[in-house]
Amino acid sequence: MSGDGRRRRHVSRTVVYSVATVAAVVLVWAIPGFVRFAPEAPSAFWAMSLAALIVDIPLFGLSGPEDLRIRSTLSVCFAFAIFVLYGAAPAIVVQAVAASVSMVGQRYRPRAGIHLIARLILAAAASELVLALTDGRPVTTPGGGLDVHDVLAFVQLAAVWCAVNYGLLAVARATVRERGLRQATAEVRYDLFSTAAAVLIVSPLLTMVTAPSVLILAFPLIVFNTLARAQMRQEDRLSREPESGLLNRQGFTGGMRAITDYDAIQDSGPQPFGIILVNVESVLNINRALGRDVYESVVSLASRRLVDVYGETRTGRLSGDGISILVPDLTAADALGQAEAAVSVLTPPIYLDDVPFALDPAAGVALSPLHGRELGTLLAKAELAVTEARRHGKRVMVYVPDAAEVTTRRMALLHDVGTALVDPDRRDELTVLYQPQVELTTGQLYGVEALLRWAHPVWGAIPTDELIESIEPSEVMHLLTTHVLETVAAQIRAWNHQDQPLRAAVNVSVQDLQDPGFVDQVGALVRRHGIPPEQLTIEITERMLVLDAPRVSRVCDELKRLGIGLSLDDFGTGYASMQQLRQLPLTEVKVDRSYVQGIVDNPADLAIVTSVSQLARALGVRIVAEGVEDQRTADALNMLAGMVGQGYHFAHPMSADELRNWVAQPSR
Ligand code: C2E
Ligand code: CA
Ligand code: CA
Repeated sequence: MSGDGRRRRHVSRTVVYSVATVAAVVLVWAIPGFVRFAPEAPSAFWAMSLAALIVDIPLFGLSGPEDLRIRSTLSVCFAFAIFVLYGAAPAIVVQAVAASVSMVGQRYRPRAGIHLIARLILAAAASELVLALTDGRPVTTPGGGLDVHDVLAFVQLAAVWCAVNYGLLAVARATVRERGLRQATAEVRYDLFSTAAAVLIVSPLLTMVTAPSVLILAFPLIVFNTLARAQMRQEDRLSREPESGLLNRQGFTGGMRAITDYDAIQDSGPQPFGIILVNVESVLNINRALGRDVYESVVSLASRRLVDVYGETRTGRLSGDGISILVPDLTAADALGQAEAAVSVLTPPIYLDDVPFALDPAAGVALSPLHGRELGTLLAKAELAVTEARRHGKRVMVYVPDAAEVTTRRMALLHDVGTALVDPDRRDELTVLYQPQVELTTGQLYGVEALLRWAHPVWGAIPTDELIESIEPSEVMHLLTTHVLETVAAQIRAWNHQDQPLRAAVNVSVQDLQDPGFVDQVGALVRRHGIPPEQLTIEITERMLVLDAPRVSRVCDELKRLGIGLSLDDFGTGYASMQQLRQLPLTEVKVDRSYVQGIVDNPADLAIVTSVSQLARALGVRIVAEGVEDQRTADALNMLAGMVGQGYHFAHPMSADELRNWVAQPSR
């Protein structure tokens, strides 16, 4: 789970439990009052209590898509009448008991149930407080009539009661879903109106009648709930496949709508979600060998497993051989992980009549709003992704847009990164991580490479090379490089102040080298931060040399004169000539990981890396091997003198804080 999700959960738990604690105190206060009252309570009171317990029974045991579910607490009509007639203590106890029964019967999730009961208790307590302040209890004896004064008092009490109950509900929703109070209020509006209407119509009548009539008044409410049940059943039936009970297109669309309904009034942009399409079998082996019926049975058992994990309201069968899962809040950063998780649910074999069937599951993911917002579009893209996954022999894949879409996405990236860079509120979306580089013979830290990360609030983590490619042709590239250079220079200075001096390398783009002010900018940066120039290295790629060799070599000479380190990145991928290499004032060459990763198994790669290392030594430059992922590769590289290694085997890129801990680790 993301840190954001964890924090949100924590906040929502705190909100719910604080409300519950206060309510528990009120309940403890009410019980003695109830105990004193009960022995002499009139029969009308017991009739109302009984009615409070039974009105919601017709809705018990239903399970439907969450958004279709009518959550009834008509018991409040009776509790409210008890409150008016007999005071807060009996009302609170009856309400707590009735709501507990109703909550269990309607299968509320425990936290939502506790919150409901707590809200009802606090609403009654607040009404009592208002009564004490205004001294306006509408009716005190059952059977009397109501005058204008009583009616106004009723309305006032009901208003307080509703304001507290639904105010607390709106606050809880706003914190749980982080959707803003405006939207949370919109969500509880219908609930609020119907409850207010029920309370205002039924409760005044209850105060005027005798015990048997109370039960007669309960009857229409029970009928209402019974009709509601029939309606929900019907809607639920329409939203599911008859045989499997999985959501059909309509049910799935309903689930999607429940997520996106409030997008229009949401300030933070559309609510993200994803569709994971799980395909059970690659070649329909079972279907072909044993027939459609056996295949269908296996698929149906497989979908049961997914339903157990993702729930009945999130799992659907919308297209021939796939099971679709609706995942709220899914972003690009965790799409693959979630899809892997879904696939691994289906990895253990399925038993049909004691015969094990090994499935061959694969999954494709499409994300909203990134890949589209309509069910049809998203499903089609998820299906393309599964097909691609199968073709590449992978278990999961996220949809990759085609060329036309790539341009659109790149334009969007370009535009948005430009905004993020100049907006002080958004600038910390763009962070810099540091990946250690290690001297292989001594195990000492040689330096770090600074690598940019962009955590987009809606699109999730953007792959850095895609981002760089999108913005390279534009002026935004300068802004970005400036941001990285400033961040890294400040970090180097901080390290120096902590007596942990470190060298750091920054990647630049060909755009930067074409900027006539670039060298001056770097010189000013180093002076302004007061850092020794040799602690900063600029990484250029071989590809830049091929694009514009004369200019690149001029810039390199000037950087060299400043004392800045100069590294040639991705060496071996760009066809630079030996002549060019000899002429550049390099301090470092980084062998591309495509060679490094082959040196254990591929003699040609070993020969190349060996000769590069000899050449580097002859030129007096350090050589860094990129992409070292395992011990064997590190050992093989260590046979060559003076090698520096960088890669996941030593450490992933990390924040400056994490780096400090990493350096301090004795086991390293
Ligand atoms: P690069 O300069 O070749 O950076 C090394 C990339 O390899 C990084 O990817 C790093 O996370 C990844 N890597 C490190 N160790 C391993 C390993 O053991 N195995 C594998 N498979 N990969 C490893 P990252 O951070 O996604 O950056 C991708 C590229 O984006 C960089 O390639 C660089 O060309 C560019 N880039 C990153 N940050 C910046 C920046 O601040 N400015 C510019 N202009 N380009 C940047
Ligand atoms: Ca690099
Ligand atoms: Ca590289």
